[in-house]
Amino acid sequence: MAPVLSVVVPCYNEEEVLSETHRRLSGTLGDMGVSWEIVYVNDGSRDGTLDILRKLARDDDRVKMISFSRNFGHQIAVSAGMDHASGDAVVLIDADLQDPPEVIAEMLALWRQGYQVVYGQRRTREGETAFKLATARTFYRVLNHLSDTPIPLDTGDFRLMDRCVVEAMRHMPERDRFLRGMVSWVGYRQRALPYDRAKRFAGESKYPLRKMISFALDGILSFSTKPLRVATFMGFSASAMALLGILYALVLRLFTNIWVSGWTLMFIALLFMGGVQLLCLGIMGEYIGRIYRESKGRPLYFVAERAGFPDGAVSRAPKPDPVR
Ligand code: UDP
Ligand code: MG
Repeated sequence: MAPVLSVVVPCYNEEEVLSETHRRLSGTLGDMGVSWEIVYVNDGSRDGTLDILRKLARDDDRVKMISFSRNFGHQIAVSAGMDHASGDAVVLIDADLQDPPEVIAEMLALWRQGYQVVYGQRRTREGETAFKLATARTFYRVLNHLSDTPIPLDTGDFRLMDRCVVEAMRHMPERDRFLRGMVSWVGYRQRALPYDRAKRFAGESKYPLRKMISFALDGILSFSTKPLRVATFMGFSASAMALLGILYALVLRLFTNIWVSGWTLMFIALLFMGGVQLLCLGIMGEYIGRIYRESKGRPLYFVAERAGFPDGAVSRAPKPDPVR
């Protein structure tokens, strides 16, 4: 029998937090009075995470575990968890206890009232650097400015989704996954649930600046083609300025004898045009790279090991054919 509630937990080198996470999570779920399962996804950890997960799955048949063949990244780990969750509602939560498991009870209550997505909205964030807070704040505002899909501010992946939303998301086979935007895009009845984000229980953030930048780019490039518009606009402005320059050069050449002195302008124009062209090429390249990745049509992830699933049945519905 499929449980009412599935909780998906992506784990990458989380040996220091997992026992405590599992203790608190299963304790809270136990108090909720519904049937539940936890799906842990080991995203190619290099520490003892896999051993801990194997043990958790062995000790409790409500615990399921899938382990990737390598590190595929947080968004893909969560997607795999959604593929393997069988509950009527699915909650996504980080392994590091930054999102308090106790909030799930409130999410469940709202789901019972008929909301199909209940997303946690951070009222406060403890234990983050001023730099991360400021960049995150700016990023979500810029993203909303650029994107045609309104994406709620200060919202991460901590959320509850109804089965119908999970199935909708599983029909979206894109490789550069920005789940918090995709879930806004699918629609249905959604609402925010404000909560206070705690600091990491132990260990350190698995999102170094490099990954954060690439995640931010995924967000913008997957949800907006406005940067291409900017490239067009820059092309137009540069052409307009070039036209002025041409007129200026011709006037000097035809009506005066001081035209050799124009080299400064020429030099500047040359550099400027070169810069604009490279920038536009770069923007186009980013999109082409994404088209290239999509066109290969590779699977999103490979599972090397799983535990806790009844034989054969790894998910409730067969994975839908990708709709292209
Ligand atoms: N994570 C993952 N794969 C990765 C990076 C992170 O599965 O490549 C998991 C990580 O174990 C955690 C969650 O994603 O459960 C969020 O990561 P983290 O807490 O390091 O990010 P932060 O909260 O600092 O943004
Ligand atoms: Mg965290």
